[in-house]
Amino acid sequence: MNLNIDNILNKSVLTQQEIVYLLKTQDEERQLLFKKAAEVKKNTVGNITYYRGLIEFSNKCEKNCFYCGIRGGNKNTVRYELEENEILDAVKFAHKSNYASVVFQAGERSGKNFVDKVSSILLKSKELTNNEIGITLSVGEQTREVYQHWHNCGAHRYLLRIESTNKELYYKIHPQNAEHDFDTRMNALYLLKECGYQVGTGVMIGLPDQTPEDLANDLLFFKDFDVDMVGMGPYIEHSETPLYERRNDLLPLKERFDLALKMIAILRIMMPDINIAAATALQSIDPIGREKAIRAGANVIMPNITPTVNRKNYQLYENKPCIDEAAEDCNNCLEVRIKLAGDEIGFGKWGDSKHFANKTESK
Ligand code: SAH
Ligand code: SF4
Repeated sequence: MNLNIDNILNKSVLTQQEIVYLLKTQDEERQLLFKKAAEVKKNTVGNITYYRGLIEFSNKCEKNCFYCGIRGGNKNTVRYELEENEILDAVKFAHKSNYASVVFQAGERSGKNFVDKVSSILLKSKELTNNEIGITLSVGEQTREVYQHWHNCGAHRYLLRIESTNKELYYKIHPQNAEHDFDTRMNALYLLKECGYQVGTGVMIGLPDQTPEDLANDLLFFKDFDVDMVGMGPYIEHSETPLYERRNDLLPLKERFDLALKMIAILRIMMPDINIAAATALQSIDPIGREKAIRAGANVIMPNITPTVNRKNYQLYENKPCIDEAAEDCNNCLEVRIKLAGDEIGFGKWGDSKHFANKTESK
């Protein structure tokens, strides 16, 4: 088949082959891809970047994903769990700074204590901000009842990356057992949708054995699932994890970074009105990685507002940026960075996924 960049970029529905073509573009063709994505962003979600204050409230985790530094099996990680008042202080900081939304993220845990703690911080966050704060949860796979309960307590968005939609690859990066079952994770995404959340998912880019075809299928899955939000970023090796054994089989960091930017740009073209996050992992490869993602089509950024003392222990991957900065410092630094990338900041606005609103209206 004769693939041509101009033809491809004029389409809104792309095939796997066309996506692979775009992932492999270089030089002028690569620039055309980014130019098109920037245009689509401008004309749909606009040149506005929304903040979600990220609160990594605990690094305790019952799972053992092969790539992740805070996996339960890593005995070198000092475990912490923020007190409720510390979490609420971070919420107050976000609210006072006009961030409008926060993300509560942690390792995955089950059990009543954990469920109750999350419920309590949801209710109290709403209460102390006059219901003004928007809340995203990212605490892994849970039962339908738990998802529903947390939704009732005030969470309205949920992030659960599928990590890779290729089942074979999924089991190369996770233990093959009931706690790490691909179908359960996939089903959790459907449960979240049924419970009324704006649903976000995503994948890691540049995993060992991952092909451009796999990445194209990931994007096609987001479209097929009709996702509202996507957060995807480069895979970055961590020396205290089993996947580190494959470190010599990886693409160079720069190439993983480039692929991640292209994934964002292609997704913006395929799904113009969704929210796309500029993943923090981009910034550990390139100091202005997140700004490049914003230019390439991303419209959400998650400034880390976890108390500084705990940040160093939430290392999913190594070289995580900004682990020594206080939240106030990030504030000033980011604002300048985003303006340089050509966007305004959506201060004081929830910046919900337009896609979610458009879907709901058309029902
Ligand atoms: N425990 C929850 C949320 C925290 S982990 C969950 O797993 O859903 C959040 C994300 O960090 C994961 O979905 C994964 O995509 C990403 N992550 C973990 N280790 C990583 C690594 N080494 N490189 C890049 N991203 C990583
Ligand atoms: Fe735990 Fe999430 Fe890391 Fe997996 S990716 S080990 S579930 S924190």
